Amino acid sequence: MAHQIEEAKTGRASCRSCKKPIAKGDLRLGEEVPNAFAAGEVTYQWHHLACAAKKKPLVLEEALQSTVVDVPDRAALQTDIAINKKHQQPTTFPFAERAKTSRSTCLGCSEAIDKGTLRVAVEREVDTGAFVTNSPGYLHAACAQAWLDDKAPLQGGPLLTLLQTNSTGLDEGDIEALKLELST
Ligand SMILES: [Zn+2]
Ligand SMILES: [Zn+2]
Repeated sequence: MAHQIEEAKTGRASCRSCKKPIAKGDLRLGEEVPNAFAAGEVTYQWHHLACAAKKKPLVLEEALQSTVVDVPDRAALQTDIAINKKHQQPTTFPFAERAKTSRSTCLGCSEAIDKGTLRVAVEREVDTGAFVTNSPGYLHAACAQAWLDDKAPLQGGPLLTLLQTNSTGLDEGDIEALKLELST
């Protein structure tokens, strides 16, 4: 199972985004989340589709791609998703983004990554001395491939493909720039 769109069977569920009830018969998005009361099981959190397009654009997009339900306002929802997902932090590594500050340092070349530069975010294990934890690390786009090949070979496809899938805030120009930098 995964995220799903369905007609509300009752009017008892409330929308997690706006807290208002979801009327019986309305289409709703079920976001699949881990069940806090049963390990390994999942449960659903419900949203009005219009609310989800604003608050959960990535989840709704995934559900729209796989749903067999006829969604009448699909086009409008997709427009909203495109606008709102630019503001969502990506949740899957690796992803690419424009550096929001100049505070990050490249894992590859150890030089600072300037604000506004395209950077690749990867998840890496950090040994704090007391415990090992996962935390995001950053690379210049041009440094990313070599570092990944060496430290964390990618599963699931070429780097560019993964970045295009996982990134949320890139426009066409960013993708082109990324292509160029990855190939240098
Ligand atoms: Zn709502
Ligand atoms: Zn670098």
